[in-house]
Formats: sequence, structure tokens, C-alpha cells
Amino acid sequence: MTAIGSEQQFVDGTVGVRVRFRGTLGALTGDDRRALFDRATSTDENIRAQTAEIVARVRRDGDDALYAMAEQFDRVRLDSLEVPRGHLRRALDALDPSLRRVMERAADNIARVHRAFLPQVTEAQPEPGIVVGRRPDPLGRVGVYAPGGRAAYPSSVLMGAVPARVARVGEVILCSPPGRESGEPPSVVLAAAALAGVDRVFAVGGAGAIAAMAYGTHTIPRADRVVGPGNAYVAEAKLQVAGAVAIDAPAGPSELLILADSSLDAAVIVREMLAQAEHDPLASVVALVLDPALAASVEAELARAIAELPRAGIIATSLADRGGVLWAGSLEEAIEFANEYAAEHLLVATADPSALLARLRNQGTIFVGPATSNAFGDYMTGANHVLPTGGLARSYSGLSVLDFFRWTTYQRVSPDAAARLADDVGTFADAEGLAGHAAAARAWSVGADAKRRTGREPMSVTRTPQSAISRPSYNAISLYNPDRSPSPLDLSDNTNLWGVPPAARQALVSASPQTSARYPSLYALELKQALAAYVGVRPEMVVTGCGSDDVLDSALRAFAEPGDRIAYPDPTFPAIPIFALMNALTPVAVPLTSSYDVDPDRMLASEPRIVYLCSPNNPTGNLLSRVAIERIVDEAPGIVILDEAYTEFATRNGVDLLARSDRLLVTRTMSKAFGLAGLRVGYAVGSPTLVAEVEKSRGPYKVNALAERAALTALSADMEWVRAHVAAAIESRTRLVTALHALALEVIDSESNFVLVPVAGAVHIAARMRELGVAVRPFQGLPAVSPALSRSEGEALRISVGPWAMVETALAALRTALVDVRGQSQ
Ligand code: PMP
Repeated sequence: MTAIGSEQQFVDGTVGVRVRFRGTLGALTGDDRRALFDRATSTDENIRAQTAEIVARVRRDGDDALYAMAEQFDRVRLDSLEVPRGHLRRALDALDPSLRRVMERAADNIARVHRAFLPQVTEAQPEPGIVVGRRPDPLGRVGVYAPGGRAAYPSSVLMGAVPARVARVGEVILCSPPGRESGEPPSVVLAAAALAGVDRVFAVGGAGAIAAMAYGTHTIPRADRVVGPGNAYVAEAKLQVAGAVAIDAPAGPSELLILADSSLDAAVIVREMLAQAEHDPLASVVALVLDPALAASVEAELARAIAELPRAGIIATSLADRGGVLWAGSLEEAIEFANEYAAEHLLVATADPSALLARLRNQGTIFVGPATSNAFGDYMTGANHVLPTGGLARSYSGLSVLDFFRWTTYQRVSPDAAARLADDVGTFADAEGLAGHAAAARAWSVGADAKRRTGREPMSVTRTPQSAISRPSYNAISLYNPDRSPSPLDLSDNTNLWGVPPAARQALVSASPQTSARYPSLYALELKQALAAYVGVRPEMVVTGCGSDDVLDSALRAFAEPGDRIAYPDPTFPAIPIFALMNALTPVAVPLTSSYDVDPDRMLASEPRIVYLCSPNNPTGNLLSRVAIERIVDEAPGIVILDEAYTEFATRNGVDLLARSDRLLVTRTMSKAFGLAGLRVGYAVGSPTLVAEVEKSRGPYKVNALAERAALTALSADMEWVRAHVAAAIESRTRLVTALHALALEVIDSESNFVLVPVAGAVHIAARMRELGVAVRPFQGLPAVSPALSRSEGEALRISVGPWAMVETALAALRTALVDVRGQSQ
């Protein structure tokens, strides 16, 4: 919706429907193709000259010119150029409540979308010791232009100002022409400005406003970028000031190309065409279909539907001058045409529109699938509707949060790297005849040591630059590497300490070696069916993986784009932030409450694309409260992952919530209660759509053939064993808690097969226990969310439970270690 066309008057409502371009693509003449593709609207000489005069006048006379032009063009004598701030608030308060709610919803969605697209700092290391970084800095001040009069578009105010605010631009100002009565912009524009958080509004319109924001006047401060739609004078003024200030992409009359096959109803195509054509008699609206019968229906339907619309005259002109109903002989031909047409808006409504997305280029925005009406994109999806037109989508992008930043690069060269650069840079500078440069570089090669380092390494030394080996963003990721060195008694990993259940063990022992010669089933269908029966859902709601680790990692990749936020409780499963970074997501750690629960408001505050919850939570062991989980499931803007690795040991689970949300994925594992950690079998349960995405991201063959056999056997023949040993683990846990209390240790209430014991010096205690032949998992640096963790200074021991005899041995080692460590530290 970039065009602000003048509404033309038509004699009466009897408009015949004539569409300029009709028939097969192949039959278009060279002139037709030129007319279709060459849509750029150039400004006429008159407008150019008048605009130049206005711009010069504002530069020369500042505010005086603006007051004079308000009288000349807007026919109003202004007392002040600036609209008092209180008037913005008043306009918003006076706004019709239903319109206000709608505008708030639109602003909220724009903010959410643009926040997700915020740019990040990037650092690259072309060679060891050389770091080049690029940092996005928000602009200091942005000027938004909003047309006034009958063409007041509050939606455009939101599209310009909300992203600027999201980018944390220092100041956002708005210019819009004054009305004759009030001497101020339309109140709906003021209300939108208030809602979008505009700092200052000026009652100044047209080319003068653009010049004022570009060069500054006494009242109007100079902006660092000027954006927003306007009439031909405004567009021309932006081009004329482009040398002094950044502007947004030039925008002209609206455009829509619809690419549809026979899966789409002609009525839908026509609705979309009319909605775009009503903007402007100069709008370009073309339907490109893959079926001649559909083309005929579109033309017939157009004739019927147009008569019903109030702006029929505008639509008729647009169709007659620039409209098209064309058909292509093949999908290939249609794609080629679309990419050359370079539309402001492209609606793709074929049987599988998502599959086409990657092949489409040069479009301002692509509406994928028939439900993605242009109208939704214009107002409410949160995408920006300020888009390039006139074929400029080939070169420009639509307005985005990136337009409100400028980049600062910085570079750092270590003394070692400087020594390695010195000679080569000296050579380069000599060749350009810049002796000063050469001297500045060579100064760093001075010294025998440096000489030795420059280019005299033996042939065997690899000189591949670091950047060719590793992703710079991976430098921040550490290997997930808890101490897993062998120990006579290992209570550190929460596996089933009674071992492999008997039927599964038998299946493993008697498996034919031949099983290993061939690939396992692609997606472990048989196992899915058994797991679905175990959980009580349909098989298409289950996806398996090489451990639930694999499923979690795949889910992060499936549901979030690089840069998206994933919120997770702190502390929780330590692999989560690592998986997040590996998938280029932004991890957002949200501290647990003092009762080790999640706080929904804080979890959702960053509007994360993914929320990860773990219940029972590792390492705290407790279940998260049902109300908190429910609120997050109901209110999260994206996907919620509920990790239930330890669910068999707990008194409740969240599987029933799947009926409440199709954006919930519950992950599970056979590593804990089922005693099969070494086989790596994990799974997730969720809506079929969600599960299909995870499966795609996870890839084939992730459950090996032997693992699938054993898991199937366990699910069919070991359930009694599993239940009995879960009960035994719970009993051991109860006894362990009593014994720990007797040692004056605090224990967090657990519904898992482990307990967390906040205790100062946990790292040393665990090290001493290891020496005594018992491995438990120490934690340090846990957030001090509770008095217990505060007293322990963020240190804690996590102890898995198993047969009581093992737990007793561990307790004995713990008693000794406590004495030894505390004795030492006293
Ligand atoms: N989630 C949680 C909470 C865990 O503690 C673990 C392993 N300790 C996993 C997932 C991964 O388990 P696996 O890959 O063995 O299924």
C-alpha cells in the first residue's frame, strides 16, 4: 500500500471491464512486455522544477518558508509549526475504541515482526589475530512523512514509526500537512503517532516537509533518514534531497501479481485484484494463471464483481491501462515472468505455494497461499507495507528495521598479526606509490622475532585462515562436555541405575548381526506407532530421534530462524543454550522463581520465538506448576517445547495440553525410565504439522536398527519392569532426601530420579567423592534464585537415584567428602 494516488472522478457507475493484457504469455508482443515490465513512473519536468524551487526556499528561509507555504498550499495560517504533545494523547483518547483496538493490534504485530528482524553484531576473523566486526547503530533521528487530507493513512504512520522505535532510534519526528480548520494533521494521524511513540509532530506537508527534515529549520530538527509515502511532489523531493539524507525506496502506484493454478477459485483472485486496483487508477494488477479456463472465469467474475464496489471507476481505469489476465503454459514460464515483472506484491496460490517460495526473486513481498490476502499484509500481519514498486523490487527491499540502523565496522590487529601483515601491506603500498603507508605497515615487521614469523614457516605448517575453517559465531560456543570419566559408581547422569530391562536386553543379545548391514527404517515408523500407543496419541503426532537431544536440536532448527530468541528457565538442561547457539538463535535465560517455578510474564517478556520448559526440570528436579505452563502455552507468541525427559518419575505430565495448543511440542526419552540411554532413543509428541517440521529438520535414519528393535521390545514386553523400577527409584529418592536432611543439607523437592542439593563447595565435594569412587554432578554459577542457592553461592550437587545400596555408598562418600572439604576450608 505504497501509492497515494489522486482519486479520479468518473462520470457514472457504468464501467465496462476492459483488461489491457489478455491471453497467453507467449502471445505478448514486445511492446506488451515492455509496457508490463517498464512501469517506472518518472516525474514530469514541471513537478521537478517546482519541487526544486520549494526545496531551495526551505533551505534558504527555513520556518518562514514553511509558514508561507502552509498559506499557499494548505490554505491555513499557522500559529505554530509544531503540534503540542498533549494533542497527540488527546487524539488517541478520542479515537473510536474499536479502531483504537485494531490499530493497537497492528502496531503490536509490526513491533513483534520487526523486533525479530533486528540486526546483530558480527565479527569475522580472516586470519588469526585479525578481527573485523560490524555493529548496527540505531540512527539518531528519523523523520516520517504522513500524507494528510483525504489520503490520511494511519497505517503508514505505524509502518514508518513503529520499526524506528523498535530499532531504538533516538528521536522519531513526523511531518503531515495541516487541515484547513484545525491547522493540524488529521486526528487519526495524530492518534497513530501517539500509538507508535512518535516524539514530535509538525503540521507541515508536501515537498517542504521533506526539505525541512532533510536540512533542518529553526523549529524542525534535521533527520538522519526520511521515510514515508506521499504524492508526486513528496516523492520527487525525497529524490532531490537524497544527497543530504538517506531516504526509503522510491514508491509509486500499487502493484499486485497473482500466480495461481486451478486449485484457486476465480472469485478469490478477483477479490484480491480489486482490493489492489482500488488504490489508484495507476495501480498495476495482473493475474497470471496456469489454466485457460481459470483465466476466462477471472474475466467473467471481474465484470460481475467490479460493479458492486464504490471505487469502480478507479478500478476500471487501472485494469484498462495496466491490468492483465494472462496464462502461462507451465509453472517454469510463470516463475520466469514473475521474476522479471518484479512486483510490489506477489500472491502465490498454487497447490504447494511454499515450495515455490525459494524460486521467486525480485518481489517486494510474497503472500504465500490464498488465505494470505493482500489486505492482511497491508494492515495486520506485522510485515511492512512500504515496498518498492515500478519494477524497483529488483534493486530495493521494502522498509524494514534495517533502514533505521547504520553500520559501524571496527577492526583489531594483534601485534603478532601486524608482524605477519607488514611486508605484504608494504608491497601493496609501494605498488600504489604510497610510501607513508608502506612505512606505517613495515614498522610492525621490525625485530628478528617478527621477521622469523613472516612467511618463513616450514612447508608442513598449514596456513589455512581460521575463517576458512570455523564459523565465527561458533567461537562463542563451548563443547557440551560434562565430566563423564569412568567411576566405579556413577550417579552423575540420571540414567536408569538398574540397567537395561530384561526383554530389551534379550532382544539386543539375540539380534542378528545382519540387522547392522542395512539402513534402518527412514523415520522409525514402527517405533512411532508403539510410542504413540504408549503416550496415547496418533502415530502422526510422534517423531523420534537419536536421543531427545537430537529431537530438541532439530526442533530449534525447524521452528526458529537465525537470530530468533529462545527463552528458557535458568537453571535448566545445560545443553539448551548450546543447541540455541549452534542453530544461531539468541538464548534468553530467565531465572526461575524462588520456588523454582517459571514466571510466565518474564518468560514471555522477550517475545521469544521458542519457549523451552523442562518439567520435571533438570537440574532442580521439581515439576513446574501447571498454571505457569498453561499460561505459557496459551500466550507464547511462537512454539513451546515442554521437555519431559523425566516424566515417568513425576505425578503429572503435560500431554493433555496438546489438545489445547497445536504449537506445543512435548519431548520425551527412553534414556531414563526405560534404561536405554546408550541406544539413544528420544521422541517428541505434538500436532502432526509440528511433528512433520521436526522430522524434516531432523533428517532420516536417526534411530539405528538395533535401537529400534530394543525400544520396541521394551515398549511391548518390559512395561511392568519399567513401572516397578520407577517406583523403586522414587522410594530410594525419599530415603535419600531423609538422609541428606540428617546431614543438615537442603534438598529441592524432586519428582525425578535425581535430587539437587544446594551446597557451598559442591565442586570440591564432588571432586573428593570421585576420589572415593563415586561420581555425582557438581554445578556452579547457578543463579541465586532461592535462599538455598544464595547460601550455597550457586553451587549444588546433583545426585541420581538407583538401587538403595548404591545410594548408601554414595551417601558414605558424601559424608567423608563433606568432612574433608569443610575441614580443609576451615
Ligand atoms: N532433556 C533433559 C532435561 C535431560 O536431562 C536430558 C539428558 N540428561 C535430555 C533431554 C537428553 O536426553 P537423551 O538425549 O538421552 O534423550
